[in-house]
Order: sequence, then C-alpha cells, then structure tokens
Amino acid sequence: MSRFPVSPTSRQAIWDFVRNLRRTLGLEYEFYFNIVNFVEKVMPVMFPDFIFEVCTTEEMGNMHGETIPSEHKIRIREDVYNNACMDIGRDRLTMAHEAEHYFMHDEKSIIFPKSAGSGKIPTFCDPEWQANVFAGELLAPSYLIDGLPAYIVQKRCSVSFSCADRQLSAIESERSKQNGIVIDLDF
Ligand SMILES: [Zn+2]
Repeated sequence: MSRFPVSPTSRQAIWDFVRNLRRTLGLEYEFYFNIVNFVEKVMPVMFPDFIFEVCTTEEMGNMHGETIPSEHKIRIREDVYNNACMDIGRDRLTMAHEAEHYFMHDEKSIIFPKSAGSGKIPTFCDPEWQANVFAGELLAPSYLIDGLPAYIVQKRCSVSFSCADRQLSAIESERSKQNGIVIDLDF
C-alpha cells in the first residue's frame, strides 16, 4: 500500500513497460507468468539489494502484502504466498501488485500530497491504480488476451475471473480512446 500520489503514468505506458519487461525475460508470448518465481528468484538478480520476506499473519495483520522502498523490501503474508504458490489468481495478483510498487515507486518518485495539490488523487497519479494496471497486465497481457472470452483468459493466465474481465474491459476502453470515444475506467 502507498498513500502518496506518484508521477502520472497512462495505462498504455504501463502496458508498454510490462511488454518490454516480459520481452526481456523471454516471456512475451507466454500466457502464464510465474509471479512467485519472479519475485523470489528474478527480482534479487535485477536488484541486488532487494529483500523478499514471507511474514506471519501475526506480523502482517490485515495486510496481504506491503512494499517498503526505503528498506528495498517486499513483504507478503504467508497465506497469500502459499496461495500464490498454488496458483490462486487473487494472491498471484497481490504479489504482482507489490512488485509494481517496488519497480516504479522508489523513494525519489513519491510526490507528497502538498506538491501534488489538494483533494482527490487523480487516477493516473494514484499508485494503487498504477499497481493494479501493472499487475493485471503482467499476469494477463492485453496483447495476448484480446478477443478471448474471460473464462479462457482465467484458465490460461491463472487469474481470477474478475481480473480477466477487468483486463478485457480495459482493452475495450483503450480501443475506444483511440477511436476518440472516452470511457473512463477507475481501475
Ligand atoms: Zn498497493
């Protein structure tokens, strides 16, 4: 979780980033993305000071996961980690969400509320929105799933039905934007 607005980023820019990342990993055209392996084994190679911790429910309480940029750390609650290892879509998404916070929001990129103006955080500056867009795209890439029914996306990508459905709606939204019709989705 992050409470501060961050630099504005469009959905398409996040999608492009994810595609580049998957390409770099040699996984551009794989439906299934092994997020547990990525966080546990790949991120420590990409970021030598990165620390991944699986924490007890007593330690984490209601939090499923958290990212602490100042400590170069991602912490995931043990039941969430175990479920992600068993390919439960919701928990895989949580791990992808925290990975985004680590990738994108180091201490320097955090904009404090004062300098970002007052009131509601604009969607594109909302770190939670950005993390959700990244997580959905990492696990169910728009360029692979376009045109597929949600239940097929759910199965091939090991995501929840709602995640698959949101991704497909986001694809429609982006397409409408390109055609000059604006449909604003807050996820
Ligand atoms: Zn978050």
